[in-house]
Amino acid sequence: MENPLLGQDALPPFTQIRAEHVEPAVRQLLDSSRARLAELSGIANPTFASLIEPLEELQHRVSRTWSPVSHLNAVLNSDALRAGYNACLPLLSAYHTDRSQSEPLFHAYRTIAEQEGTALAPVQRQVIEHAVRDFRLAGVGLPADRKARFKTAMLELSQLQAKFEENVLDATNGWSWHGNDLGELRGLNEMLIEQARRRAAQQRVSGWTLALDQPTYVAVVTDAESGELRRAFYEAWTTRASDQGPNAGRWDNAALMEDILRRRHEAARLLDFRSYAEYALATRMAHSVDEVTEFLHEMARTARAAALREFEELQDFAGRKLPAWDVGFYAERLQRERYAVSQEELRPYFPLPRVLSGLFEVAQRLFGVRISERRDVPVWHRDARYFVITAAGGAAIGSFYLDAYARPHKRSGAWMDECIGRKQLPSGAALPVAYLVCNFLPPGNERPALLTHDDVVTLFHEFGHGLHHMLTRVDYPSIAGINGVAWDAVELPSQFMENYAWHPDVLQRICGHFASGAPLPALEQARLISTRSFHAGLATMRQLEFALFDFRLHAEYSPQAGGRVLPILREVRSEVAVVPVPEWNRFPSSFGHVFAGGYAAGYYSYKWAEVLAADAFAAFEERGVFDRATAQRFFDAILSRGGSRDALEAFIEFRGRRPDVRALLKQNGILAAGELAA
Ligand SMILES: [Zn+2]
Repeated sequence: MENPLLGQDALPPFTQIRAEHVEPAVRQLLDSSRARLAELSGIANPTFASLIEPLEELQHRVSRTWSPVSHLNAVLNSDALRAGYNACLPLLSAYHTDRSQSEPLFHAYRTIAEQEGTALAPVQRQVIEHAVRDFRLAGVGLPADRKARFKTAMLELSQLQAKFEENVLDATNGWSWHGNDLGELRGLNEMLIEQARRRAAQQRVSGWTLALDQPTYVAVVTDAESGELRRAFYEAWTTRASDQGPNAGRWDNAALMEDILRRRHEAARLLDFRSYAEYALATRMAHSVDEVTEFLHEMARTARAAALREFEELQDFAGRKLPAWDVGFYAERLQRERYAVSQEELRPYFPLPRVLSGLFEVAQRLFGVRISERRDVPVWHRDARYFVITAAGGAAIGSFYLDAYARPHKRSGAWMDECIGRKQLPSGAALPVAYLVCNFLPPGNERPALLTHDDVVTLFHEFGHGLHHMLTRVDYPSIAGINGVAWDAVELPSQFMENYAWHPDVLQRICGHFASGAPLPALEQARLISTRSFHAGLATMRQLEFALFDFRLHAEYSPQAGGRVLPILREVRSEVAVVPVPEWNRFPSSFGHVFAGGYAAGYYSYKWAEVLAADAFAAFEERGVFDRATAQRFFDAILSRGGSRDALEAFIEFRGRRPDVRALLKQNGILAAGELAA
C-alpha cells in the first residue's frame, strides 16, 4: 500500500498515518529531493522558471510531508512515533544544511538576479533576495579558510549554548527547600503543598520539600506569606549557575557567557558585520543597532515615571520599603483588593462555542471571510475539528484544524503551525492549511468547555497567526504566510488580534453564562478590562531591562574588553531599574533566552511587536474597530503579504508613518490619552 505521508494532493489522511510510515516516507522524500537538487544544481543556464520555481516546489513538498509528523508528535505522542520522529531529525537537518550551504545554488540565484532582475515581478525578486541573504548568513560565498572558521565558531557556539543550558538545569535541580512546619507554607495552594509532602516522603524525610522549578518559584514569591521563604527562593533562583547564592561556584556560567559572546562576535565579524547585533538584524524589521537602542531608550524614558508611581503606591500599600522578593506578593494582594476579579470565576461566562462564533464574526466583519465547520475530514483525535475559510463570493481561501483541549500525550501551551503552505506554481497550486492548538480544560458531562479570559486571549492570539498564514496571497512558499517574515514582526497579527479579546463590543458577543445565557455583569467586565493595565509600568521597565542588557551585550562586545556582562548590567539597571536589586543578584547566569539560543540580540522584539500591534490597532480605534476600509488596508499591506516585502515598508504603507511607541504606552495606561498629543 502507498505510504499515506507521501500523498501530495489532499489533506493529510490522519486516520491512516502510523508511526511505521514516518521513517520510510522521510527517507524516500529526502532521497528524491536530493536527486532533484543535484539535477537542478547542474542546470546550464538557470532561470527563475527553470530553477527557482522547482526549488520552491521542492520546499513545499518537504514541509508538507514533515508537517503532519511533527504535528502528531506534539499532539498525540507515543513511544513509537517519537522514535520515528527522532530518527528523522538528523536526516532533515543534514538535508537542510546541504541545501542552505550549496555553493552552486547560491551562484545560480545570483546569476538569475543579474540576468533577469528587472524583468521579474517584485515578489519574485524578493524570493531571490531572501535566498541570497540566507546563503550569505550561512557562510556560503566566503573564502575557504574563513568559511571553515565560521563553521567551527557556529559548531562551538551550539555546544557552549547547550552547556549553558545544562548548568542552569543542574543548578535548578541542585537546590530545594525543606521544612517541618506547615505554617511556613501558608498562602501556597493545596496542590503545591501536597506535592511538597509527597516529595519529602519520596526522600524518606518528614515534612515538606519544595523544588526550585519555575511554577514553584513563581507560586512562592507571589503567594507565600512567609517573607523568609520568599527571600530564600528569590536568592536561590536569581543566583542559579553563578558565583553567588547557596550553590556559589558550582555550575558557574560566567566563563561560558564570555565564550559564547566571543564566538558570536567572531562569527559576525567573519561575515563582515561589525557586531553580532548587526548580524542578527540582517533578517529583522529593525534595520540598525541605533534604531533598536533608540527605541528601547525612548520607551524607558516614557514608562519610567509610571513605574516609579506604581512602585511607590505598592510600598504605601505594604506600609514599608519593599525588597525585590516582596514585590510579587504585595502586587498580587493589591490587584486582588482593587479588582476582585478571578480568572476562575469568569469561566462560566466564556463557553468555547460562543467564544469561537464571536471570534469568527470578528474575522468576518474585518476581512469579509466566512468560517464554517466541515465534519467529513479525517482528524487525529475526536476532539480535533476542521474549518474552512471562504471569501465573500464563496471561493475557499484556506482552512484550519482546531485541537482545543488538554489531554495526556499532548504538548502543553498553545501554537499555530503550518500544515500546508500556499503555493501557486506551474507545477500546481495549494491552499494554505493551519493547525491551531490549545490546551484548554475539556468540556464536562453537562457543560461545554469553559475558558478563562486568559484562554480567550490565547485563542485570539493563535488565530491571528492563523490568519497571517491562511489569508496570504503570495504564490511562492518561501515567502508566503509567516514564512520569511522578519522575526521581530511575526507577532504583529497575533498581538493585533488580542486587542479584540479585550474590546467591550467583542466581549459582549463572546460572553454569556453557559447555563443561563446571562451576560457578564457590567462591573465585572469593567474590572476585567482594567486588569490589563495593572502594573504595566513596572512590567515594561523589567522587559526593557532585559532587552537593553541583551542588546548592548551583543552590540558593544569587543575582543579587548570582552563581554563586560556585569558592568553592562549595572549600567542598564542604573538607567531603567525601578525595584532595587540586591548586589548578589546574578540573573544573567540563567538568562537562557539569550545565552542558550533563540533570543540573542532579539529580546527587544517582545516590546517591538507589541508596539506594532498596539499602533496598528490604534488605526482601527481612530475609525472604529470594525472599519472595513482600515481592515482592507491592513490586509493589503500586511496580512496578505507574507515575507514578500520589507516589514517596515509594509507598516508604513498601512499606517502612513513609522510605528509610534506611544500607542502601546497609551494602551497600557502608562500615558493618558491627553499626553498623546505631546
Ligand atoms: Zn505568537
